[in-house]
Amino acid sequence: MLMHVILDNGHGIETKGKRSPVLPDGSQLLEWKYTREIARQVMKPLRSAGVDCFLLVPGELDVSLKKRAQMVNELATKFGSERTILVSIHCNAAGDGSKWMTARGWEAWTSIGETKADKLADCFCDEAMRMGFKVRKDMSDGDPDKEDGLYILKHTLCPAVLTENFFMDNMEDCKFMLSEKGREAIAALHVRSITKYIEDYA
Ligand SMILES: [Zn+2]
Repeated sequence: MLMHVILDNGHGIETKGKRSPVLPDGSQLLEWKYTREIARQVMKPLRSAGVDCFLLVPGELDVSLKKRAQMVNELATKFGSERTILVSIHCNAAGDGSKWMTARGWEAWTSIGETKADKLADCFCDEAMRMGFKVRKDMSDGDPDKEDGLYILKHTLCPAVLTENFFMDNMEDCKFMLSEKGREAIAALHVRSITKYIEDYA
């Protein structure tokens, strides 16, 4: 069955904060830019494999969460919410980007409660662990994904998962994220997890 994948790349160019401190070599990770690059890196192989894949916010400017949720729901209604998934790609931060912090690792979030999003999040977490990522878990509810009432997850009709792809304000994580190896690994994680979900549940 044809699956429709919506990739949301979070914040816009004008969103305050959402950046790493400056690395010793002068480089800096900007979340809006980085997540757009990753989303495009995820979209290409999925499209080549015949998956119908959308970028929710192709431009550089921010689109409000309310508007984004509306756009997702229009697509989910058009295609059927069982045949549509949303993956929102983010970078984590423990502070405000002014200094390096200690928290690090990879996380996935879903809406609260047992939904099909949990199956999608399981695909992500299994693959992240298989790839040797340090996966931060909240096992209190029995799921390896953390659950929270994040707006884009709570107000969308289709299964939705938000990935926090390492901490941009942890120096080790940030160096990994900006490296070619890191970018490829993060993009591959998304491609493999989405493909697995489609194979298993679509
Ligand atoms: Zn974010």
